[in-house]
Amino acid sequence: MPAQSLVFDGVTKRFGGTAVVDDVSVAIEGGSLVALVGTSGSGKSTLLKTINRLVEPDAGRVLIDGSDVAEGPAPLLRRGIGYVFQGIGLFPHLTVAENVAIGARIAGRDADVAALLDLVALPRAMADRYPSALSGGQQQRVGIARALAPKPGVLLLDEAFGALDPVTRDTLGQEIRALHERLGLTTILVTHDMAEALLLATRVLVMQAGRIVGDASPRDLANGGGGEAAQSLMAVPR
Ligand code: ADP
Ligand code: MG
Repeated sequence: MPAQSLVFDGVTKRFGGTAVVDDVSVAIEGGSLVALVGTSGSGKSTLLKTINRLVEPDAGRVLIDGSDVAEGPAPLLRRGIGYVFQGIGLFPHLTVAENVAIGARIAGRDADVAALLDLVALPRAMADRYPSALSGGQQQRVGIARALAPKPGVLLLDEAFGALDPVTRDTLGQEIRALHERLGLTTILVTHDMAEALLLATRVLVMQAGRIVGDASPRDLANGGGGEAAQSLMAVPR
């Protein structure tokens, strides 16, 4: 699947009168790896979920390759979007191979489990294990392999590595970057960790109180640019 562009066009989502996502307009180039950074509660997850329609906006549109995601059935849309979040629920009664293949199977396709395990750097011998016999990092890799199995055009990672130890988190981060370079699929990485964003992304969007208040390259950020909100996040220790 060729890299797909992503556009938020005036997207607003309110919960109980508060605009948790407040008139966000931003265009993301197909094939880029963009980090969405902000403190807890700034609206990152809500904005991300408007892409796969786990959240329906009150106003505005989300376009993938120019098509409004609101048109057509949500299950079909979700097959084209890999989604990995913190503590992704693997099915405990299914093996690694079955967990990886399940999304593709629901879509009526077979998954090349061995190739997917290679892609996320998991030994093929783990295919027959159950999730309880894997480390947290390994489970997260299975989650990524599962998200990639239907060959999505867009990959969404929402604090996917937050629960892991720092070393595993950095390793997985580097692998996501390598994976991105290999597959070239449009990737949005949500994180509250600016250091992770700087390390992995080609563009960093900063969210604050439902708005995008910063939009800069890692290089600009490292040189003191990107605006006040971005710089204040730069000062937060990991
Ligand atoms: P982030 O991912 O940046 O931490 P979220 O998008 O999860 O932020 O949440 C932004 C704000 O919206 C928070 O104040 C949160 O409590 C609120 N919120 C998120 N989802 C819901 C919901 N389903 N119902 C009510 N409030 C919500
Ligand atoms: Mg969140």
